[in-house]
Amino acid sequence: MGTDSGRPLILVDRDGVVNELVYCTDSGEWESPRTVADVRFRDGAVAGLKQLAATGWQLALVSNQPSAAKGKCRLTDLQAVRRHIAGRLAEQGVAFLFEQYCWHHPLAVPGRWRRRCDCRKPETGALERKLGKWQADRQRLVVIGDQDCDWLLAGRLGAEAVLLDYPYSRDKRQRTPVTAVVADWPAVVRRLGNL
Ligand SMILES: [Mg+2]
Ligand SMILES: [Zn+2]
Repeated sequence: MGTDSGRPLILVDRDGVVNELVYCTDSGEWESPRTVADVRFRDGAVAGLKQLAATGWQLALVSNQPSAAKGKCRLTDLQAVRRHIAGRLAEQGVAFLFEQYCWHHPLAVPGRWRRRCDCRKPETGALERKLGKWQADRQRLVVIGDQDCDWLLAGRLGAEAVLLDYPYSRDKRQRTPVTAVVADWPAVVRRLGNL
């Protein structure tokens, strides 16, 4: 992988960006899919990721997944969703340089996943180690997300933020300036398509 050093890199959020959120009747909120059957890709996501990769961007997936830590489901269910999404994308030719999943939450039910960690966005510690390992081009580093934590992450990393509008996460995107927000995946590709 040494020949890939220094290439531009996009950190891609998953829920609300790659896949749709799912309405959960127990919480009354739109959340991350808890089962493989609940996984639906967002319109244009797979095609958009393929186009960005073809342009020369490397892609990495960065996702917070606290549902098991909060006792809403089992970690094995979330891991099955993770494998399913990665597998479906791989079938379409979309590969990630790395995936960083955070299963923790500081206010989780007591147990091994209840802690302050440095892999939960917008924390940057774990990502900084990976960016160093992969010698990412810090001048061409982008975060694609849909919530304020993605925008905050971009700011802390010195990266450009491109946030996809998504009706079911707008309430979690109050701090992000509108100049960072685009309507859909084709607009993401238009903004990032010319390296
Ligand atoms: Mg998201
Ligand atoms: Zn974590």
